[in-house]
Order: sequence, then C-alpha cells, then structure tokens
Amino acid sequence: ADHLLEVDDLHVEFRTRDGVAKAINGVSFSLDEGETLAILGESGSGKSVTAQAIMGILDMPPGHIGGGRILFQGRDLLTMPEKERRAMRGPDVSMIFQDALSSLNPVFPVGWQIGEMFRKHRGMNRSDAYEQAVRLMERVNIPAAKERVKAYPHQFSGGMRQRIMIAMAIALDPKVLIADEPTTALDVTVQAQIMNLLKELQEEFHMGLILITHDLGVVADVADRIAVMYAGRIVERADVGDIYARPAHPYTRGLLESIPRLDQKGQTLSAIGGLPPSLLAMPDGCAFHPRCAFARDVCRSEIPPLEQIGPRRESACHFSEEVLNA
Ligand code: SF4
Ligand code: MG
Repeated sequence: ADHLLEVDDLHVEFRTRDGVAKAINGVSFSLDEGETLAILGESGSGKSVTAQAIMGILDMPPGHIGGGRILFQGRDLLTMPEKERRAMRGPDVSMIFQDALSSLNPVFPVGWQIGEMFRKHRGMNRSDAYEQAVRLMERVNIPAAKERVKAYPHQFSGGMRQRIMIAMAIALDPKVLIADEPTTALDVTVQAQIMNLLKELQEEFHMGLILITHDLGVVADVADRIAVMYAGRIVERADVGDIYARPAHPYTRGLLESIPRLDQKGQTLSAIGGLPPSLLAMPDGCAFHPRCAFARDVCRSEIPPLEQIGPRRESACHFSEEVLNA
C-alpha cells in the first residue's frame, strides 16, 4: 500500500562560492497516517533542508534537488506543476517553524493571520474567518481567545505565539504536519506543553507528524519512530523505545549521553566531542569517523550503508553489533 508520504533517495545540493555543498545525500523514509516520526540531528545534519524540500520552500537557487522523489499519496511533489504544489501547502502538507515571532507578521492581528488561511483557501469572508480563528485559538488552548483574536503577535508570550503558529498550521486540516524545532526557543515547561499539544492534535486529526529536533529529550513521549541524521544521511532509524534502550549507532549513543538528566543534577554532560564535518569537505568513509570512539581503519575508507539490523531497526555503521552490546 502507498504511504502517506514517501521520501525516496533524496539528494539536495547548495552551490556556494567554495563549491557544491551536499546537504542531503540519499535520504529515504516514509510516514503513515497517524504516525509521528522524529528526525534528529545537530544543526547542519540536513534535517531542516529535508523538511524544506518536502514543503517546496528550499531557497532555490542556490538550493537544488540533485535527485530522488517525494511522494505524497503516491504523487511525486518534485515533478508536479508549481501551482498545484503551492495549493497543497496548508490543506495537505503544513509546517511550523522554530521562531514564531519572525514567522508572524507584526503589523496584523493574530486572528487576521489565522483567518487568512480560510479567506485564501476557502474563500471565507472576514467575519467568518475571524470566527474560525477564535475556534482554533481555543483549540490550541489560548485563554480568552475571543478577546485576544485582534491582538498583535508582540502581545503574546513565546509559548502563546507558538500556539498561534500551530493554529495556523492545522487550520486546513493537513494530512502531514512538519514541525521544525517547534520548542527550541521556549523554556522547558512550555516545551513540554507544546509537545503535548502537538501530540493531542496529531491524534485528534490523525495527521502524519514529522518532528525535527536536535534534542532527543523532547521527543521521547511523542514520537513513534526516530530517524537520526548526520552529515546529510540517515545513520539510524528505529522505534523510539529501541533507540532509548539500546542505540546501534555511535552517534545516537553520543546524543543519548548528552541529554541532561533531571535525576542526576549537577552531573557533567558528556557531549560528543568535535564538530560535524563541513558539507564542502566530507571525510572519506564514514562521515562520523573523526568523532567516533568505535572507529577503525575500514571506517576511514568505506561508507557504511543504512542496513537492517533487526525488526524495524536500521543502522549505518560497520560495527552496529558491537555498539548495541557495548
Ligand atoms: Fe564509527 Fe565506524 Fe560506525 Fe562510522 S562506521 S559510526 S566511524 S564505528
Ligand atoms: Mg534547522
């Protein structure tokens, strides 16, 4: 059967003055209705670029799809006429960003901006659109929505602004919702509230949800599966419980070890040493080898393919077995 969304061998490049940066090097994954996939990685791993490619909002040029397919309900978004694709943004595929303040327009009331979805896509008049905006603001738990529908973005807290973004994103009942670092700018308590809200909405509307984050800590209770990205590739993919219990890739292991633990206050965190590679000068072999405690000679020459290592588990490491048992 068709998946709701299927990304198949996606390649994305950026032409820069210093050469071609390969932001995405053959990424494949699928998403089904009602499923939550977390895409995890450091900045520069390609997770946001993957989202932008799905949404069709890559800065082009210099962004350039080097190959692959992105199938939505079996139809390839990459070969579809731009006009058709644009019409899908909102009703079919929708996205929320990290920075609600810069995504919202400061000079229009929030209700006007939420209502725009209904005026533009459903041809609603102003007052009906405002009514829908109030309904959505209530749904995302903004207190006194009726009174605040005509307030401006700066009159809301960061958490409330993110709720407004979520209201806009779900306005047209999308089948796929992509959230790119939706809670990064918020404090920890608000982060948890926003994550819970996303989970609730996902269940209510049976959406496919893609959560993009650098923080393994925030997705534990929300995601079904996790795909870990490093240097433009998926390096591990598994059910969330398996990732937490026993990571199979050294990079995932490093990410897990750097999650702050509430039960071990004051404990120094072991972050992964070193930096991700430059996309212009990728190391030979496994891109993670300069930072990897498990690396051996073969890692410097041979790129490990993403391979099945168990039921619903894949890892791209020459020594997955060893890592699993370490
Ligand atoms: Fe480390 Fe080698 Fe595995 Fe890459 S292939 S993650 S360098 S052990
Ligand atoms: Mg990003």
